[in-house]
Amino acid sequence: MKHPSSILLFAFLPTLLSAQDPNLVPSAVRDRIIQEGKQNSQVAKHLDELTNGIGPRLTGSPQAIRAAYWAKDKFQSFGIENAHVEKWSDWKVGFERGPWSGEITSPKSAAQNLHFVTRAWSAGTKGRQEGPVLLLPKTLEEAKARPDLYKGAWILGRLGGRRRFSPKTRKLKDFLKTQGVLGFIAPSRNQLLITSGNFRISWEKRPTLPEVTLRVDEFNKLKDLVQKGEKPRVLFDIRNHFIQGPIPNFNVVADIVGTEKPDEYVIVGGHLDSWDGATGTTDNGTGTATTLEAARILMASGVRPKRSIRFMLWTGEEQGLMGSRAYVKKHRSDGLLDRVSAVLVHDGGTNYCAGLQATPSQLPILRKALSGIDKVDPQYEFEVSPLRFFVGGSDHASFVSAKVPGFFWLQKGRANYTHTHHTQYDTYDAAIDPYQRQSATVIALSALAIANLDKLLPRTSRAEIARLTGGNRRRRFRLGIEFAEGVLVSRVQKGSPAEASGIKKGDLFLRIGKNKVEEPRDIMLGIFRAFQKGAKEVSLFVRRKGKETQLKLSLNFPRRRTRRPPTPKKRKMEPTRKPNKEPQ
Ligand SMILES: [Zn+2]
Repeated sequence: MKHPSSILLFAFLPTLLSAQDPNLVPSAVRDRIIQEGKQNSQVAKHLDELTNGIGPRLTGSPQAIRAAYWAKDKFQSFGIENAHVEKWSDWKVGFERGPWSGEITSPKSAAQNLHFVTRAWSAGTKGRQEGPVLLLPKTLEEAKARPDLYKGAWILGRLGGRRRFSPKTRKLKDFLKTQGVLGFIAPSRNQLLITSGNFRISWEKRPTLPEVTLRVDEFNKLKDLVQKGEKPRVLFDIRNHFIQGPIPNFNVVADIVGTEKPDEYVIVGGHLDSWDGATGTTDNGTGTATTLEAARILMASGVRPKRSIRFMLWTGEEQGLMGSRAYVKKHRSDGLLDRVSAVLVHDGGTNYCAGLQATPSQLPILRKALSGIDKVDPQYEFEVSPLRFFVGGSDHASFVSAKVPGFFWLQKGRANYTHTHHTQYDTYDAAIDPYQRQSATVIALSALAIANLDKLLPRTSRAEIARLTGGNRRRRFRLGIEFAEGVLVSRVQKGSPAEASGIKKGDLFLRIGKNKVEEPRDIMLGIFRAFQKGAKEVSLFVRRKGKETQLKLSLNFPRRRTRRPPTPKKRKMEPTRKPNKEPQ
């Protein structure tokens, strides 16, 4: 706050410089859209039908399939003709969560209902199962010393988190299972009960015993009772069911077809799937409801964009952006992605849409295009600001990986994201209706303005993404950005082993042996690994003039005593695609 006057100036600069472009959205159209979005809103109805009517939408569950067809029907009911579902995969095992309840039944003085969650794709009880609570034995030896003890008991102990996967824990659990325990009870970290789970299971090896994550205060109460010798008993009734696959997974797609460039797109979307510990409002019922509502508003306003606006609802987002990745993968080679101007993703919770962040080349265009958006509701801020750091973790990142400009709506407001995100509190009441009306209207207007621009938005180069994500692959992976392929060879040193292998300037480096090359360090690592194994040569796979070519790199370096890799100073590589394919 050193120079408040200059900050103020900058805050107003965009609006001063760029009066709204009436060619993108004429003011009469804008007013009609705002009127429709704010006065005739149905966003709360969409959200109610989705979260209360259909309920949780775990990918691979019957509700997720129901939700996909429901959303398709919704789009159709707005008059969109080509609304359809697109299958992106089949899963081997489906999962359906029914009601779950638990209580302390004894001693009477401690009786109460329990608050807990079980993971998705984990076992339920076999009916109502009551039994004594025993503390988890510390070691396998301790358990084996009293094998008669555990039959029909609930085992209380810290088995969650990382411990779940340690070999020691697994052995102990396996032994207790063979002794006939009813299930395991672990504590939650705090008052929030977070749902997660792993869908990668087989029908044959599906889990058999329930694992309860009990709210930590209730866990401690039970532990106290056991330690005081009160011999507490608990009863759980958990109706988790597996469904033998194949279970189809769907994305939902619907287009308002453009008048001038129907095969160019602005994509608007959110994810239809949720975790199933609650009904998925924050994540991502609001994204689904505002996507639907933006489509309804535009259809009801009778506007026709120049480019097509494609509405998409993905599934498998919570398992790693799977639906959107599959979509991007499917369209990598058919040229569609080159014709997508922007992807606008709403997955930030229940607050209002407060703006977008754009790269330097996109910033002036978007600021001008979206300059009228603050008229939607003057009490809510809206700003297009410079992208300083890439926010990933949702479906826009799948598109960014393919260099399509992907945006994540920034949100502001009074809602507490952490309280509801993946927790037991992620229910319909987490939504704030005026915020949802504003968001849907902002999304409708923004999509229309971008669809009406003269040109597609400038692509984001891989170098730019690398810079904005901190440049490191693990980080990018966490953000959900994976580059599909290659490192471009920009120079080959004369007389080097690289030259001897036949590598040429302009080759796109794809793999070393079986290992993918996604950034320059992968090349060093690949060579180093082969060298360490004592290999005499290693296969290099490059793409040259559109064709994949195999080369052999000799590893006949003099072996040093130190375990350092051969210094690959022979060539310089940059994480970019072929420069002539770089637009702008
Ligand atoms: Zn989400």
